[in-house]
Amino acid sequence: MPLIATPAIVLKVTPYSETSKIVRLLTRDHGLVSALARGARRPRSPTGAGLDLFASGVAAVRMKPQTDLQNLTGFDCTRAHANLAGDMARFGAAAALTELALKCAPAEPHPELFERLAEGLDALDRAGSDEADAAALSACWRFVGALGFEPALDACAVCGTPVAAPVTFSAVQGGALCKAHRGDGERHTKLGEADRDALRALLDGRWPDPPLDARHAASHRRLLMTFIRHHVAEDRPMPALVFWDRESWNATSS
Ligand SMILES: [Zn+2]
Repeated sequence: MPLIATPAIVLKVTPYSETSKIVRLLTRDHGLVSALARGARRPRSPTGAGLDLFASGVAAVRMKPQTDLQNLTGFDCTRAHANLAGDMARFGAAAALTELALKCAPAEPHPELFERLAEGLDALDRAGSDEADAAALSACWRFVGALGFEPALDACAVCGTPVAAPVTFSAVQGGALCKAHRGDGERHTKLGEADRDALRALLDGRWPDPPLDARHAASHRRLLMTFIRHHVAEDRPMPALVFWDRESWNATSS
């Protein structure tokens, strides 16, 4: 049974028996991995220290062929991302991002996807409270982009004809639409120049300038959710994404 060491991010932690944990990890070198961390719930356990939700580090895993549950023998936490548990909005956003990874990452290794998730959690952990919405939106869009689903902004998503602002955007059809393909325009979103530039900034991993206010952040979240539902999630339920959207919406309207 080979022992491997790989950068890893903790996506899910489930208590198992009195003393152990089962974790789901996104690893850089081995894709999604489920592993049993024996004794990780014991005080002063070397495996359990830092083995918490959203933590990044280096995991030592004993890989067994023909089984879905591996053995985690060590976890060297490099970033605990402790701020993510500090407020509900940030926690909700981090849970939505890790849900995307849990449900939509391919089983095989995808180092770019791993880096996008790591960068996204770092940015969300570091962001000031006025930047948290932009950090969360950008992290989710960049993850979706690394999965191969970046929306078209400058050319029609159907035929590739260049389009200028204001852009008719269809999350369902994958981005901007030219005159010929926008049909009756029902259910499309009109993106003025500022909104289009804000979306481009988020896709590039920059914060929009001017910063998103609560109303615009909510509109961007709605666009992202629709895009994810149609292109990434397919029929998989995404309760953390729904929770993030709903709770942020509550915060906006209160
Ligand atoms: Zn077109």
